[in-house]
Amino acid sequence: MNRIICDICGSEYPETEERCPVCNYPRQGTEKLVAAESEVVQSKVKGGRFSSKNVKKRQKAQRKAAQSQGEGNPNKPLIIVIILLLVAILLVSVYIGMRFLHGRGALPSLRPSQTTASTPAPTESTAPPTVPCQGLVMEANVLDLETLGEQKQITVTAVPGDTTDVLTFVSADPAVAEVDENGLITAMGSGQTTITITCGDVVKTCTVVCWFQPETTAPVTTVPPTTSSNSTSLRPGPKLKAHFIDVGQADSILLECEGSYALVDAGYPQSGKIVVDYLKELGVARLDLVVGTHPHGDHIGGLPKVLKEFKADNIWSGPITYYNNTVYDFLNAAKAQNEEVQYVKPGTTFQLGGATIEVLGPVKDNYEDINDLSLVLMVTYGNIKYLLTGDMESVAEKDLVNSGADLKADLLKVGHHGSYSSSSYVFLREVMPTYGVIMCGRNNDYGHPHDAALGRLQNADVSIYRVDQMGTVIATTDGRGIFLSWAFRDAKPWTPAA
Ligand SMILES: [Zn+2]
Ligand SMILES: [Zn+2]
Repeated sequence: MNRIICDICGSEYPETEERCPVCNYPRQGTEKLVAAESEVVQSKVKGGRFSSKNVKKRQKAQRKAAQSQGEGNPNKPLIIVIILLLVAILLVSVYIGMRFLHGRGALPSLRPSQTTASTPAPTESTAPPTVPCQGLVMEANVLDLETLGEQKQITVTAVPGDTTDVLTFVSADPAVAEVDENGLITAMGSGQTTITITCGDVVKTCTVVCWFQPETTAPVTTVPPTTSSNSTSLRPGPKLKAHFIDVGQADSILLECEGSYALVDAGYPQSGKIVVDYLKELGVARLDLVVGTHPHGDHIGGLPKVLKEFKADNIWSGPITYYNNTVYDFLNAAKAQNEEVQYVKPGTTFQLGGATIEVLGPVKDNYEDINDLSLVLMVTYGNIKYLLTGDMESVAEKDLVNSGADLKADLLKVGHHGSYSSSSYVFLREVMPTYGVIMCGRNNDYGHPHDAALGRLQNADVSIYRVDQMGTVIATTDGRGIFLSWAFRDAKPWTPAA
């Protein structure tokens, strides 16, 4: 049977039909006879004779034609084979890429090796999976060492336990404490330092406090005064002595006058024993006055140990605006002696033998910085004055100057361990001290004394006595002159003439 091609939609149908079975359009009489299948295909693809008003019908017919073309495509198996080949190539590429990233097999590893060059690389089958360290659990983050060369182990566990990250230990100041690769620390010098423990991306620190008394800081009674930058020879008779006791990066000052004793601060809890031993060596039986300048551990921390050993007749404190264990320990130690802590204000005085201790500051009790709440004491003996400032910083220094108090003193216990934040010019100009004693620890973490403070003291022609370099410093006065002595014989003060 002959077939013809519809003029309208291009579909092929038997010559006997009056209408196109696809578009239902009547025969026009101009339809082509089908010669061969390939020609039909060509004609359908070209579709040159479609009229625009039958677009929908044409599209439908085209879809049908395309469908029949696909079904009948003799190249179909070849196309499938090509697609399968492409998929296979893609899968192989992905596999090679993954092997490369995991550093396995013969391909080079991107992961840095934690083994040394001499250690054979683990084989593919035995290499443990990398479990990143997620945390470090430490038994204690503060360790105290009390003798030179003493060793303690930092006990730290990585979480999870099967992490392949390696623990490393680094000491910030090996002159204070050294640490080996297993976390064993060794006390090398008096002071405080930080050990940084690293495991993968996790970092923790451990504070190491070496507050033992260095061998060279022998008790004052066995170390004769060596040098004095003040040639004044003191008269025989009663005196006032201020002992700036070497307790490392902390304050502790013993005032001794005509058989009476006042202790201003006692360093850290660890230095309490140093202070107790020092007092016993001097033959102190009881303390007329104990002062906690401000509630910081490096000032009141050692007082509980002292109050356990020595009866204190009076206990003074600066304003306490916050409470922690250090503060409670101090208050409880006072309570154990049945002594009320007296929160003294400017104008309060105390008679220590022939010396007068007067409270000058703080002039406000609401400073944001605890250091500015430090009790400021002027100790007067005859014509000589010592000014003790705790950790007072420049904010309170300025207020003190503005309060109109007479700040002129011969000796200044330099504020806040020689920090740049204290010893402002406006303050030094009022005090105009001849001597400045800086209480700080050897190689301390804070970098005390700071160059800025040292520079201002030097510009003010203050002779500088550093406890970290000279050990315990003693300033003795007969009420007319001052004689300074110190523990380390070879150490020298900085003097304006030098
Ligand atoms: Zn301090
Ligand atoms: Zn402080």
